Amino acid sequence: MNRILELRETAGLNQAELAEKIGVSQSTLASWELGETEPDVDNMVKLSNCFDVAIDYLLGRTNRTCLFCGGMYDTREDISCPHCLVESRG
Ligand SMILES: [Zn+2]
Repeated sequence: MNRILELRETAGLNQAELAEKIGVSQSTLASWELGETEPDVDNMVKLSNCFDVAIDYLLGRTNRTCLFCGGMYDTREDISCPHCLVESRG
């Protein structure tokens, strides 16, 4: 689930206000918030600039690629890469 609704409420904006800021219709914004559609790249950039958050955060993506070993991990469960932790523990 994306975080557009959560970020909008934190910013104290209603749907109409945010839709106007981004330059889309209120129904488009509503369908993003419901997860029915995803914003296109242009709109993702606008939203991430508007809320000052990363696009991954905005979209609620939780999979991260480890910079060291290239392995994927879930940031909801692991703060750091479990593969590297196993290696460093020997
Ligand atoms: Zn790793």
